[in-house]
Amino acid sequence: MYSLEEWVRYGDELRRPLLIADELSYSTHVVIVGGGLSGLTIGYRLASKRPDINITIVEGSNEFGGVIKTWNHDEWTCDLAVNATRSHPAVWRLVDDLSLGDVFMPSNPDAKHRWVHLKGEPHRLSWRTALKIGPLRMRRSVIESRKGGCAVSEVLPHELIADAMTLGIVNDTSAHVDADFLFPSLTRFGPNPPIKWSSIKKKMRDTYPLFTPKKGSLASFDGGMECLIDALSSVLKNMPNVSVEFGMHAESPEAVAEKFKVPLSSVVWTVPMESGPPSTSLSIFAIGYRMEDISNVKVGYGTLVPDTNLPISGILHESDIHHSKRAPEGHRLFRLMVPHSRVKDNHQLVKECAHQLLGSSKSVIFQHLGDREIPSYPPGHMERISQHDSSFTRAGWAFSGVSITHVIAEAERIAALF
Ligand SMILES: Cc1cc2nc3c(=O)[nH]c(=O)nc-3n(C[C@H](O)[C@H](O)[C@H](O)COP(=O)(O)OP(=O)(O)OC[C@H]3O[C@@H](n4cnc5c(N)ncnc54)[C@H](O)[C@@H]3O)c2cc1C
Repeated sequence: MYSLEEWVRYGDELRRPLLIADELSYSTHVVIVGGGLSGLTIGYRLASKRPDINITIVEGSNEFGGVIKTWNHDEWTCDLAVNATRSHPAVWRLVDDLSLGDVFMPSNPDAKHRWVHLKGEPHRLSWRTALKIGPLRMRRSVIESRKGGCAVSEVLPHELIADAMTLGIVNDTSAHVDADFLFPSLTRFGPNPPIKWSSIKKKMRDTYPLFTPKKGSLASFDGGMECLIDALSSVLKNMPNVSVEFGMHAESPEAVAEKFKVPLSSVVWTVPMESGPPSTSLSIFAIGYRMEDISNVKVGYGTLVPDTNLPISGILHESDIHHSKRAPEGHRLFRLMVPHSRVKDNHQLVKECAHQLLGSSKSVIFQHLGDREIPSYPPGHMERISQHDSSFTRAGWAFSGVSITHVIAEAERIAALF
């Protein structure tokens, strides 16, 4: 059972199981596999709290950051993965501890609206969406989902809206995504708080350092998310108890334990397990316009496109969302998400579809930024990972939750055990 203090610190992250080895906190040398946001934040939190413990970070590639990368070209700036964060005090605490408060600001409040492309028309997500789904049907299916292990399609009984949502979050259709993993508060997975959730949320609001975010708002960094990775890398570089092995692909937790001569319980594995469900993949593109050529597109967060006949599953209004500039003066920038289950390596088709969806073919820049793999979370995923064997620790977005709020809160929860 968690205390009220823990609920106020972590909120409904406590519904998510912490997959730690029983003996982890007795380690004198912790080896973290993966130098993405998860591995770096766990390394930073542990190394700061326990300067007497050695920490090694093993990264398969030659750079930190994992899926997070920010593309810059002339005055265009675009993230390839996460571009802004939902509010959670653990994220604000990390930003504050890394002294990044000056470049971390709330997103543009005028860019809140999101649309779903339904039957060729944009439908704005609002309370009216619940009417479209059917409030009574929705209530029944939410209650039903509390038995556990349901797909998102069972909880949100409107196929296109449910698909739009899961495609936007995990690049997969709703029948293939675990509702407990995506919305544990809705399905009531895990422990319940000791007092009303609304009271906890109110108490949490008083704990934000830097600034208290407005309800439902996002926040982001000047210059993109890579700034968080750069700050973590540079602070870790200066910590005497931290060492890094780049270019080392770890075969298994057991092989890592043997190589570094540590007990298996000292290995923190922040990458998906090879025996886990196969990931999905997508391409990310940036497309830019002069303002006058795109004035028909309303300012907002973006549009989700569940229609599998179109190559694009989502358009994010990058230059609308952030407080900092992402496009040259007089221009707007959009980010396109293209699942490989729909199309791969056909850039012309993507460009034509973007022109069709945005209603203008006068783009001034069109760039393939890269490809990304996203872990899969099939129905029952949360239940399955909860019954993990506790010989080594598992963390990162395959286990903690999809968003950086989960990854960052998880790192704090792990360090709190030491
Ligand atoms: C397109 C996209 C959009 C996103 N949008 C959002 C968003 O809007 N909001 C949000 O909160 N989150 C979003 N996310 C999710 C967010 O980016 C992730 O939660 C977070 O970055 C995951 O970090 P991680 O360290 O767990 O994993 P990763 O970034 O995948 O890092 C894993 C690291 O481990 C390394 N590695 C892998 N295998 C091995 C091995 N065997 N040995 C050694 N090293 C290995 C990899 O090279 C990598 O560096 C998005 C992600 C993507 C891809």
